[in-house]
Amino acid sequence: MSDKVRIGKTDLYINPIGLGTNAVGGHNIFPNLDEETGREIVRTAIDQGINFIDTAYIYGPERSEELIGEVIREKGKREQLILATKGAHKYVEDEMVVDNSPAFLSKSVEDSLIRLRTDYIDLFYIHFPDEHTPKDEAVGALKKLKDEGKIRAIGVSNFSMEQLKEANKDGYVDVIQSEYNLLKRQAEDELLPYAKEHSISFVPYFPLASGLLTGKYTINSPINDGRSRNPLFQGKAFEENLAKVEQLREIAADKDAEVAHLVLAWYLKQDAIDAVIPGAKQPEQVLHNIRAWNIHLTDEECGRISSIFKR
Ligand code: NAP
Repeated sequence: MSDKVRIGKTDLYINPIGLGTNAVGGHNIFPNLDEETGREIVRTAIDQGINFIDTAYIYGPERSEELIGEVIREKGKREQLILATKGAHKYVEDEMVVDNSPAFLSKSVEDSLIRLRTDYIDLFYIHFPDEHTPKDEAVGALKKLKDEGKIRAIGVSNFSMEQLKEANKDGYVDVIQSEYNLLKRQAEDELLPYAKEHSISFVPYFPLASGLLTGKYTINSPINDGRSRNPLFQGKAFEENLAKVEQLREIAADKDAEVAHLVLAWYLKQDAIDAVIPGAKQPEQVLHNIRAWNIHLTDEECGRISSIFKR
């Protein structure tokens, strides 16, 4: 990969195919994860030139950041990487709560620095909004950390339009991360236009709809993990989604690509989207997804894909 792109108005430059790491040490999200496989996923990504790595305190919790920190130490390429992490969760008497208070966000950054074995975080997101903290105050705390050099850019995640506006009152928000994929396009109503207007970079999570948009499922595929609770994988919706994915095969074949590449390339054609962070459970998936970087869609192809998945 080459030709780095800038994330929004930040001074961070990345290769647009990044890596999502909730399956690297994310034992609380996916059962039976092998940690060495997780390290190998991160090593493979770095070796292939992926430099935008997305993690969070809550993946594990803590373990994803720790494993990434180990691999960074081993590889010794810290300055080539753009590390994004997220905080806002904490456990109070075994119960998980969300806290956006300035004091807690500052502590979260300090703790992430230790786990990631680094002295700066490139992009720190408030992972989820809490109910109490004014959002501009929460972002103000991150601005202070940015001024101190502990973080280089400010992100928010899972914020509603109203929360994003409040968070960005002073223009400090650099990135918003929200759920968005071809099967869930609600962000097109408000968040994407706002992001474009304010030079905020929009990072879509679940870009592959948890694997459904890779083209690997058929109607007979057994769905016997957490995906069985995902409405996209259930009943008639699953059938309809598969039929849409099926229509991508022809366009993909014309471009000597596969369905997942087309899907990832489609996001990157959107103005506010500079990067995608597909997750991976195996290093081979990283190698596969990285090929999307070489797929360039025409406006006509984008339009065709968009209309297959029209809302
Ligand atoms: P995703 O990217 O939509 O799907 C990733 C899953 O698809 C992988 O774990 C793998 O699962 C399968 N897959 C990936 N590449 C494949 C390929 N080439 N061929 C076949 N299957 C493939 O979902 P995600 O990983 O949950 O989301 C992406 C990232 O967004 C996360 O890793 C995380 O960093 C971030 N995220 C953020 C939030 C937030 O609240 N901000 C929420 C969720 C996720 P299987 O092998 O099991 O099928």
